Amino acid sequence: MRRRIYIQLMAVSGVAIYATLLLVTAVYYEVFERQVFEDLKTCTGFLAGLWTQEADGRGNGEGTGGSSGLKDAGNFILPEQAIRGQGLRITLIVRGGEVVFDSAAQGEDLGNHGDRAEVMDAFARGEGKIVRNSPTFHKNTFYYALRLNPDMVLRAAKEADSILGVFTGVLPMVLFLSLLLFALCMLLAHILTRRLVAPIERLAGEAEFAGGEGAYREIRPFLQTIRKQHEDILQSARMRQEFTANVSHELKTPLASIQGYAELIENGMAEGEDAKRFAGEIGRSSKRLLALINDILRLSELDVQKGNLEREPVELSDLAKTCVDMLWFNAKKHGVKLRFSGEECVILADRGMMEELLFNLVDNAIRYNKSGGQVAVRVGEENGQVCLIVEDTGIGIAQEHQERIFERFYRVDKSRSKSTGGTGLGLAIVRHIALCHNARIQLVSRPGEGTRICVVFGEQAKWG
Ligand code: ADP
Repeated sequence: MRRRIYIQLMAVSGVAIYATLLLVTAVYYEVFERQVFEDLKTCTGFLAGLWTQEADGRGNGEGTGGSSGLKDAGNFILPEQAIRGQGLRITLIVRGGEVVFDSAAQGEDLGNHGDRAEVMDAFARGEGKIVRNSPTFHKNTFYYALRLNPDMVLRAAKEADSILGVFTGVLPMVLFLSLLLFALCMLLAHILTRRLVAPIERLAGEAEFAGGEGAYREIRPFLQTIRKQHEDILQSARMRQEFTANVSHELKTPLASIQGYAELIENGMAEGEDAKRFAGEIGRSSKRLLALINDILRLSELDVQKGNLEREPVELSDLAKTCVDMLWFNAKKHGVKLRFSGEECVILADRGMMEELLFNLVDNAIRYNKSGGQVAVRVGEENGQVCLIVEDTGIGIAQEHQERIFERFYRVDKSRSKSTGGTGLGLAIVRHIALCHNARIQLVSRPGEGTRICVVFGEQAKWG
């Protein structure tokens, strides 16, 4: 990243230096050109003044008018020294284009100048100017023509550097300055890159992204997400650790009991009725062990499965009715009356999971009930949402436990749970299944009066 920023900064600097160079040269040349014309104008103005005096002087003496100026032009007296010193070329052209005087080529035939743009302009508008390429490489000739009278134009020309010439002239200096500037840019880009990257590097070093202070505002949401993920990972690691510890503890108890009774039998300390009782205990502990292992495996399966459900249209009241039928005998054993009522409600759900959810809820409602109590299972629609309600007139759950009973291995009354074959995982499985189906669980319970658990399936779960 640092390297990339550095390279990009250097590229921008390079382009900026190059563009500035070109622009400055162009602007400089524009000023230079204007100055050359300004000089030529001053010079022709001065010469025009001289010429008028000369012509007037002769005009007065010889009594000739404007046309005599034509003939006299050949005698035009120029401050030659000054003109040569300035590198100027002065030309006098009469209407029609004939050159009657040229300071640079006296005596030669210079051809007709009537078609020269600056001369034509001067005759037409009083003055004309133009820049032409010079035969000399990197040079231009600047022409400025001034109309002296309707028949005569005075033209001054000067050879000066072309833009390329100006540029080549200053090239060594420009190159030196550019290199200096480039070196300065390199230094600044280096410092700037370090400064830009420093907050990010600092963050990368902080494992916890503590406060994210000093970080760029744009990066803060990203930091928050990472922090949240970090916390979630820690939390789930903590939960896994806790779960593993709980699992070992839960498995240890029935195993220790099996081991104890087995040793008693092995040592010949169990005879007659005792042997029968010990075998019964071993059987119960094994059953408990099996139930625990089943639930643990089921939970880890659900963890892996997460959102990958095999959804299909499931008629919930049918499923609830079957579950009630299956647990009818169980309820009878506990002296509990089990009832079902419901209307047809089809949802998109994983059938196996739904059976499990129903079984766990109804089984709890029977196990945590009182003799002579009742359990009502209802399936219906409320406010356009499918609801499954399992209500009992059992022992109820105190307020302080209501939040926690969905945690793994959380039991209000451990001995009652164990004695009725509970593993402490039933409601954790229920919560997991509900979550997978985007369903909410509502719990209303009063100690001594009973519990009502309602599973509300969102509208998207409805089928058809
Ligand atoms: P368990 O296997 O112990 O029943 P669950 O996860 O199914 O475990 O339930 C957790 C705890 O919640 C139970 O131990 C019990 O204390 C309480 N509980 C669950 N359902 C009911 C209910 N219908 N009435 C009263 N208490 C309940």
